[in-house]
Amino acid sequence: MSDDAGLQALREAARLSPDNLPLRQHLAGLLLAKGYLADAEAEFRAALVLAPKNPDLTAGLAEAFVRQSAYGPALAALEPLLAEPGYPPRLGILAARALIGEGDMGRAAYRYFEAINRDASLVDAELATRLTPGGPASPWPTPAAPPAASPPPAAPPPPSAPPPAAPPAPPPAAPPLYAAPAMAGQQPVAGGPATRESTSEVERAGLTFADVAGMEAVKEALRMKLLLPIQQPDLFAAYGKRAGGGVLLYGPPGAGKTHLARAAAGELGAAFVNVGLADILDMYVGSSERNLHATFDLARRNRPCVLFFDEVDALAGRRSDMRQAHTRQLVNQFLAELDGVDQSANEGVLVLAATNAPWYVDGAFRRPGRLDQPVFVPPPDQAARAAILRILCRDKPLAEMDFDAVARVTEHFVGADLKGVVDRAVEAKLQQSISAGRPIPLATPDLLAAARTVRPTAVREWMATARNYVMHANDSGAWDELMPWVKGKW
Ligand code: ADP
Repeated sequence: MSDDAGLQALREAARLSPDNLPLRQHLAGLLLAKGYLADAEAEFRAALVLAPKNPDLTAGLAEAFVRQSAYGPALAALEPLLAEPGYPPRLGILAARALIGEGDMGRAAYRYFEAINRDASLVDAELATRLTPGGPASPWPTPAAPPAASPPPAAPPPPSAPPPAAPPAPPPAAPPLYAAPAMAGQQPVAGGPATRESTSEVERAGLTFADVAGMEAVKEALRMKLLLPIQQPDLFAAYGKRAGGGVLLYGPPGAGKTHLARAAAGELGAAFVNVGLADILDMYVGSSERNLHATFDLARRNRPCVLFFDEVDALAGRRSDMRQAHTRQLVNQFLAELDGVDQSANEGVLVLAATNAPWYVDGAFRRPGRLDQPVFVPPPDQAARAAILRILCRDKPLAEMDFDAVARVTEHFVGADLKGVVDRAVEAKLQQSISAGRPIPLATPDLLAAARTVRPTAVREWMATARNYVMHANDSGAWDELMPWVKGKW
């Protein structure tokens, strides 16, 4: 490799004072800036021996790796620092580049958005394009060209001069994130953090499991999965189990999945964030991933928190079904958020997702540590319908009620349908009370009359679809739990 005189002088100085950290750091930075990547790598390594975990040196080493397409080593260098809270956001940008190089777009997006949320001055248009819909599909393509036979045309400083203070020329690829002290002019100056706010809101659920009628098996499964690890951490730790992870609630529409999720949060004394698909999908290209990240962040800031994704099949549909690159990108981002970047990222964040169409949910979502426990939320049987009606009517002025009689005539009604019945009966009663000038309590015939006017939602159709999957697409046994249900009469 040919060299220029300034570099030569610096190398010589470093050889004579191998413990001079500022000197070595400066030399490493200069080598990196001039594109001598292998030499820069060696210098950064040597400097890191003197100052292990120095973020500037680590950034320099990682950048040298990334620009040589050595993405794995770059990530290995960055990871110890990234695991620490409050790490410099520019390290996240470097990690994003390395992850793109490895083809891990979901994690790359996670790192990128986290970084720019913390420091808006790090926004990198090229990186954003790669991470967003329609961006080039190839991995990070432009490691710096290896140094040419002759050094790049930079004005060499006089050999005897102290290390030059002028910022070196930027490398040909992405803007440099390594910022040695002498390059302070390149250090981005944050104009205040421009944290992306989630469009979702934090609720404090007033409900508990006592407000959910029936579903004892479902409540027990949720207790085991979500509540006990937090209520009795020592016991779970003894068996090597951690709080966190997620549950996929599935069942016919209106059967009470959202209600149950909200009650689980209340039971736990946790915050509740209800995420509808519309909250995430954004008409602006590329913002969906940011919204998703911001939503997970919102939950992390409010832990313990139940993060509830309704209609998750729309978001987590089988990736093979998705022709749209941007939908796949969003799915990957969701998976990366579920996994968390490190062990503790999602501690105390319980992800509940609901779907009416579990067969459309990508298998990747059901891997261990993700939505690994599918829980069937069944349509209510007669006893459960009576119990739901009792709960729905409990704060209304009531005559003596025969909820069982109403439950008998509401076969195939789910919770949402029963709510419709009660709402309708209450409306009628209100009108009667206004006409009579006094409150008239709700009675059984009111509910029976209302039930005749409400058509149950499509539980039977749902069961017919479920039956097809159970009978013809159950090789993995994923739908065994549904077997007794689809065999019943619907
Ligand atoms: P899903 O999310 O499955 O579509 P929801 O949770 O929105 O259904 O249910 C609709 C409404 O039905 C709830 O707001 C609640 O009032 C009522 N409901 C459903 N299941 C129950 C239940 N087991 N106990 C009490 N109320 C219920």
